Amino acid sequence: MTFTWIFIAALLLSVGMRHWLAMRQIRHVALHRASVPNEFASRVSLADHQKAADYTIAKLRLGLLENAFGAFVLIGFTLLGGLEWLNQTLLNVLGPGIAQQILLLVSLAFISGILDLPFTWKKQFGIEAAFGFNRMTPRLFWLDTLKGIALAAALGLPLLWLVLELMATSGSYWWLWTWIVWTLFNALLLWLFPTVIAPLFNKFKALEDGPLKTQIEQLLKRCDFASQGLFVMDGSKRSAHGNAYFTGIGKAKRIVFFDTLIEKLEPLEVEAVLAHELGHFKRQHIRKRLLVSFALSFVMLAILGWISSQPWFYFGLGVTPDLNGYNGGLALALFMLVAPVFGFFFTPLGSLASRKHEYEADHFAAQKSSASALISALVKLYQDNASTLTPDPIYTTFYSSHPPAPLRIAHLQRFA
Ligand SMILES: [Zn+2]
Repeated sequence: MTFTWIFIAALLLSVGMRHWLAMRQIRHVALHRASVPNEFASRVSLADHQKAADYTIAKLRLGLLENAFGAFVLIGFTLLGGLEWLNQTLLNVLGPGIAQQILLLVSLAFISGILDLPFTWKKQFGIEAAFGFNRMTPRLFWLDTLKGIALAAALGLPLLWLVLELMATSGSYWWLWTWIVWTLFNALLLWLFPTVIAPLFNKFKALEDGPLKTQIEQLLKRCDFASQGLFVMDGSKRSAHGNAYFTGIGKAKRIVFFDTLIEKLEPLEVEAVLAHELGHFKRQHIRKRLLVSFALSFVMLAILGWISSQPWFYFGLGVTPDLNGYNGGLALALFMLVAPVFGFFFTPLGSLASRKHEYEADHFAAQKSSASALISALVKLYQDNASTLTPDPIYTTFYSSHPPAPLRIAHLQRFA
């Protein structure tokens, strides 16, 4: 089977590249562990620099293990017959139909979730805890997991049922209808997220009156930005890492600060960070990202529409289709397993676009707020989050959504 060999080649290449990139990053960070880079020497202590190196390397080491394990699991599901066994077993119990297909996808998600669990656990209670970032209790971890499952069931099952119905009954253009449904579903999620979904996991309270609020309101006025409010989120419940983000669409836009961010930064620095986030909005990055994601899902569904009617797609990956009956669940399961292997090779394109947007948002923040305040905020955040200041250039080119610290600071210094 030609497709089997294409799949094996792509899988080996992607796993090999992931490993190689992570090893490069580990070596590069370890090599620069002994001293703080000159441009940061006055602001970052050697102890903090070494903590960042150790933290970065610990996360990468776990990633190496996860990469190899993921490849075994994928081979197990496909070529070694895991998915075929699951599908046939459910067919024997339930017979063909929508219910069998839904159960197939639910079982696959459940098994994948259980296999991921040790890694998620190790990240939170191993690495994050060892470096003093974890604020989560095991009780909260399980509560989050259960809420996540309930939410996925409440939103995902009706969507899945609708998509499988379309695949079974709407002819060869089912994928186009599915794309429309998917796009509307995502718009609904964006709309529900700030007021319905996010409050299930965190508490939000309005930013208190005071110098910070006054300053931020003046910034919003300067940027001509209308929002439904400024909120502070109890991010400290789970992690010591600080952040700020935008959420919602249209008039329902909200600005959310993690309480951990406000604790660590001076009001002027918080303003600069927010100005950067506003830059993403004002430079149309958020709209562009949304349009790109809709275009991508269109292409992915068109590909799925085509390959789901090709016998080689199934036989090549170790499953037996029923091309004249209900086959949608099997096609979706296989596609979700295999598409990331091929998608991996496009990672640098997304990273490149994202880094370009980051520079543009920094430029905007320099114009509307202050470049030097943003620099001091970023250095504090690098330090507090133990982000490495010395990443490997090839690793960065491939993966990084943000420019490496030295380049980002140098870019901002031109406006300071
Ligand atoms: Zn940004």
